[in-house]
Amino acid sequence: MGNASKIVAFAEARGLAPKKEFWGLRWSAICPNSKGKHRLRLFPRKETWQCQECKKKGDETELKHWIWVLDQERLSTFMKETESGDMSKETMAWWMGRY
Ligand SMILES: [Zn+2]
Repeated sequence: MGNASKIVAFAEARGLAPKKEFWGLRWSAICPNSKGKHRLRLFPRKETWQCQECKKKGDETELKHWIWVLDQERLSTFMKETESGDMSKETMAWWMGRY
């Protein structure tokens, strides 16, 4: 697709569905902490991102780390729900989409 931006390419690879806004000066992507309910902003020129709703921002490394932290949290929820035998639809959907 020829994305010049690493941060946009990264969002694409993680399934965050980046979309161009303002002629590519800014992009938006699904916030990994939003369960699909809000989007964060990507700034390709600076290779940074920002989520106003979550009050989080940073560069590609920080986005990678944040996604990892969120994944670990959801993994521990998954473990607990598996043990209790009462898995929520949301956890199930996350698990199915994980690989
Ligand atoms: Zn967010």
